[in-house]
Amino acid sequence: MSSIVLFGPPGAGKGTQAERIMEATGLPQVSTGDMLRAAVKAGTETGLTAKGYMESGQLVPDGVIIDLIKDRILEPDAKNGVMFDGFPRTIPQAEALAEITPVTHVIAIEVPDERIVERICGRYSCAGCGSVYHDTFNPVNADGCSCGQWEEKRRADDNEETVHSRLGAYHEQTSPLADWYRSKGIFHSVNGDRAIDTITADIFVVLNS
Ligand SMILES: [Zn+2]
Repeated sequence: MSSIVLFGPPGAGKGTQAERIMEATGLPQVSTGDMLRAAVKAGTETGLTAKGYMESGQLVPDGVIIDLIKDRILEPDAKNGVMFDGFPRTIPQAEALAEITPVTHVIAIEVPDERIVERICGRYSCAGCGSVYHDTFNPVNADGCSCGQWEEKRRADDNEETVHSRLGAYHEQTSPLADWYRSKGIFHSVNGDRAIDTITADIFVVLNS
């Protein structure tokens, strides 16, 4: 059993690469956000504990998250390991994780902040069908979306200021973890500012190393 940790800022294309890694390796994707929501919904003991913190607007403590991971890793689909997304977020979590499952590869998809801002801030979608467009990279046709129900929709948090603050938070959280995993010799940085297939190819080189 060997697990993978995937890092990447919002807008770096992590979701697409995560899907490809899952397909190729058969490892399930484990996101602590999804797990927390599932545990709360299922009403498990850990879920109820987590719910208390979430409802009072507090961060769910490391111990609760780690209990969730311990349970998740025992599921049959995790017998060969899992791919973590959005976890660990702290060094204590990384230390605890090392006790639960051997992490063999930590992959960080890196994209310069200014490129992320460019990608996210130009984004908009069709309220009618959900198709995603971009001011520069994929503008909608002059006569609107082909679904015939064209209505432009932009997310309020896709503005430059918000994206910069999200990226700041991401770097603040990730850089100590990157250093920690680098010291273990399992940290790999992949240039995410390239074609999607090129990034995938690089990730597979890392995973096969
Ligand atoms: Zn549409």
